[in-house]
Amino acid sequence: VKKIAVFTSGGDAPGMNAALRAVVRTANHYNLECYGVREGYNGLINNDFTRMGPRSVKNIITEGGTILKSARSLEFKTKEGRQAAYENCKKLGIDALVCIGGDGTFRGANIFNEEFGIKVIGVPGTIDNDIFGTDNTIGYDTALNTAMEAIDKIRDTATSHNRVFFVEVMGRDAGFIALNSGLATGAIDILIPEQKDSIEDLFRTFERAEKAGKASSIVVVAEGEKLGSIYDLAKATKAGFPDYDIRVAVLGHIQRGGSPSCADRVLASQLGYAAVVGLMEGRTNVMAGLKSNQIVYTPIEEAIKKHNEIDPGLLKISEILAI
Ligand code: ADP
Repeated sequence: VKKIAVFTSGGDAPGMNAALRAVVRTANHYNLECYGVREGYNGLINNDFTRMGPRSVKNIITEGGTILKSARSLEFKTKEGRQAAYENCKKLGIDALVCIGGDGTFRGANIFNEEFGIKVIGVPGTIDNDIFGTDNTIGYDTALNTAMEAIDKIRDTATSHNRVFFVEVMGRDAGFIALNSGLATGAIDILIPEQKDSIEDLFRTFERAEKAGKASSIVVVAEGEKLGSIYDLAKATKAGFPDYDIRVAVLGHIQRGGSPSCADRVLASQLGYAAVVGLMEGRTNVMAGLKSNQIVYTPIEEAIKKHNEIDPGLLKISEILAI
């Protein structure tokens, strides 16, 4: 490979900038020409390429979001859109793409590679941690800490007023943020999509907490929880426990923002570097990941089909420690 292009796509995540910096600087180090593409796949279609050198990524390691901007591109889901994207790559002589994003981004990259043969390599950037082939995704650690800090603050007010708080955290169909932020903040219950929950179990937990003399409680709910919306759960609890002073807090997009944590900056640097090196070694249609501190390359098809398992041991520990 001689000329590569890099973009950020799908849901943004803290550390995407650090990954971009690593890609651009590694490319420069190995004398590859590097282009940044704005707004994900839309930039490929709209021919929005900018030549990037080491100075174009100065000062961004500390910044949340993505300086290239991200987008969800409907056009790229069409054959015509991908054809236009390919023509633009060909015109500029791009021979490989570094795709920083989540599973949707990788699905797009996989199809693009199969249709046009252009080399692609994925870098997992999403707060949800739902990508197979890496222990953690870029952005997850920062989001987790943001959720933890927010829930700590909610705990202060919950304790002052003897309230029960239902707190919703992000994660789409995955419960990683909920499980770990719930354990870290001492939630009495953690509801995640990977586990079958029932309202009866939740009620039993409240009864146990009451018996143990707990005056306030926090229940952390993953956004993908299947038992019902957080408002439905709060309503059902009020019906079962009319004396409870119940509040709902949906943490929302604050979890996506902020300066990336040290762990995310290090991970992003390793994976951005690994993506460029992987391309130079002739790899394509794979994702760079970090497993047990080793850089590993997983076929993109596998990364989007499989899922990381949550650790049921953590749920058990949180149950024992919370009450
Ligand atoms: P994420 O990468 O965070 O999972 P999305 O699911 O929005 O975010 O995917 C990002 C972009 O990837 C989409 O907006 C679309 O342009 C592209 N994409 C996703 N799925 C496909 C697909 N099946 N075919 C082509 N492109 C896709």
